[in-house]
Amino acid sequence: MDFDFNDEQRMLQETVRRYMRDRIVPIADEYDARGPLNREDTLGFMRDLKPFGYVATLVGEDQGGPGLSHVDWALLHEELRGAYASLGGAVGIAASTAHAVSQSENTALRDRILPGLVSGEKLACTAITEPNVGSNAAGIETRAELDGDHYVINGAKMWISNGTISDYVSVVASLDRAKGPRGICQILVEREVSPFEAREIPKMGVKSFPTAELVFEDCRVPKENLLRAPGAGFKNALRFLTFARCNAAIASVGMAQAAVNAAVRYARERTQFGRPIGQFQLIQAKIADMQAETDAARLLAYRAFFLLDRGRSAQKEASIAKFYATEAGWRVASQALQIHGAYGLSREYPVERLFRDARCYTIPDGTTEIQKLIVGREVLGLNAFV
Ligand SMILES: Cc1cc2nc3c(=O)[nH]c(=O)nc-3n(C[C@H](O)[C@H](O)[C@H](O)COP(=O)(O)OP(=O)(O)OC[C@H]3O[C@@H](n4cnc5c(N)ncnc54)[C@H](O)[C@@H]3O)c2cc1C
Repeated sequence: MDFDFNDEQRMLQETVRRYMRDRIVPIADEYDARGPLNREDTLGFMRDLKPFGYVATLVGEDQGGPGLSHVDWALLHEELRGAYASLGGAVGIAASTAHAVSQSENTALRDRILPGLVSGEKLACTAITEPNVGSNAAGIETRAELDGDHYVINGAKMWISNGTISDYVSVVASLDRAKGPRGICQILVEREVSPFEAREIPKMGVKSFPTAELVFEDCRVPKENLLRAPGAGFKNALRFLTFARCNAAIASVGMAQAAVNAAVRYARERTQFGRPIGQFQLIQAKIADMQAETDAARLLAYRAFFLLDRGRSAQKEASIAKFYATEAGWRVASQALQIHGAYGLSREYPVERLFRDARCYTIPDGTTEIQKLIVGREVLGLNAFV
């Protein structure tokens, strides 16, 4: 067992950390205050981040990608999410959907779509959640019907990250509701070819991470755009969610560590009763708890990424990492805010944004409650979902 990065990863971590400190942290608040990132700004950021491997991270070199490992992904995203979580979200969704496209059995579609995603000129996202379908993803109501050479999609999707700025949406839809999960497929909708409505949904945190409601009304999509056939569509969506859970965990680790760092800086500078508040034992206890929770979350997250690199399903480990790290993330950010006193509530210090952003992550990709039911099922062998 090895708890350390190799030399190459350590170098990558140092370079990325420096880049985040010098280039991303200074602009994060300003961009965040503007609201959801637009397409041009996102593509601009992706151009800058591409040399580090943030674009199509997991796509193999044989397909034009950087071919990095899951652990490399974790390392990259821990740094970016701590600097500017919303940007990390937008970049991560594009990269994880690119990876899903790279694994499609529809090689003609894959070979046509992938180059734009790998070059960072196009953006993609994945649409599972619906107005009536959240935790129970198997109950997808969006319908796809074959009509000649096209699928006709009808339905709505909710809370779709990058929904307003993506060129391609991987839509999870049912071809036959009577078949349940076995009737679920994935269709790649190209916005220019098959237009649909997209409306931004404002949120309390990760405010500049675009999140949208998408409405498909008789949306005609060429039948060549079937990304995953029925049956494989649902299984693939679950695999995508396992990875997404690891990703939410590492995002929370990045934010938690940024919150610890901010609290440590402040506790050293701020004096009360004639000494730095960091000298008070109650503040030291808070810092110790915050760092312990962050380290525990980090170990759980890297374990899950490590297992994915070994081709293991990691479903239980991803769910443990997801609920532990995302709950720890906002608890740690909340304590960091407390250490800042009233200044923690102001926009002058980074903990206000970190707290709002970290609070969001207990919900996407399966809530804390759903992760606990998955872990309970794996550990007990009893299924709460039936
Ligand atoms: C920032 C953000 C980004 C997102 N990005 C995407 C995206 O890119 N693509 C996408 O498809 N979706 C996305 N989502 C949606 C997200 O995956 C869903 O919000 C999530 O799965 C929960 O669904 P819901 O909000 O409908 O809650 P519901 O399923 O309605 O749950 C409501 C409450 O009931 C609880 N609950 C539900 N069932 C049970 C049960 N069996 N036992 C105990 N408690 C239960 C839940 O834990 C929760 O507390 C995103 C959400 C957010 C906040």
